[in-house]
Amino acid sequence: MALITEEFFVLNEGSSPTGPRKARSTGQILGTADKRDSIYERILNAVMEHRLMPGTKLVEEKLARVFEVNRTRVREVLARLAYEGVVITIPNRGAYVASPSVEEARHVFEARRILEPALIRTLVAKADGGAFKRLYDHVALERAAREDGDKRAVIRLSGEFHTLIAQMVGSPPLIRLMRELASLTCLIILLYDSPNVPACPNHEHSDIIAAMEEGNPDRAIALMLSHLNHVEATLDLSLPEDSEADLEAIFG
Ligand SMILES: [Zn+2]
Repeated sequence: MALITEEFFVLNEGSSPTGPRKARSTGQILGTADKRDSIYERILNAVMEHRLMPGTKLVEEKLARVFEVNRTRVREVLARLAYEGVVITIPNRGAYVASPSVEEARHVFEARRILEPALIRTLVAKADGGAFKRLYDHVALERAAREDGDKRAVIRLSGEFHTLIAQMVGSPPLIRLMRELASLTCLIILLYDSPNVPACPNHEHSDIIAAMEEGNPDRAIALMLSHLNHVEATLDLSLPEDSEADLEAIFG
């Protein structure tokens, strides 16, 4: 947790009582590409854990300072996040954490209902016992975070469960797609969730793994679809679209 809190403060215009803190040194021992990836991962994690809220401005020079890199590198990372829909860039104003509209939220769930059954079918066809153990281990992390009352970690880990399935399928374009959809879902949950509704319920993830382990892709797919419907149903997507007003309220 502490590893990524500093950009929360920095990105919120130094709202921390102690002011911006120095970036950890992990980036310093990494090569250029790794370092860029690590900045990407840290910003993405902060978004997925709701420490960076939709509509938050991502100030290039502050990011450059906290990550101890130049602005060009920050711009590359922001461009990648923008390409993935997690960040939006507004000409002459800068980059902001995206605020998906109701229509975009519906598209995200529709895309997930198309993609995730295919991932499950592919994984069941190629997976060994080790793959299912990794998934169960991940669910154990989710359970531990829930027991600790660590809501941020619960939301991030819930999204990562779905990305992990794509990782085990092993296709880089599908991993990127699933990551993008999982990150957008985290933003959507934050924007449209009813208060106190949990992210993905633990047992639904376990039930999906159990069906895959039994070699029953049809059942696993049915469980995944009802799981996605369940998550979507907990959201209030009847709200009028108001993302412009949100930005005005936050930054006006
Ligand atoms: Zn889930």
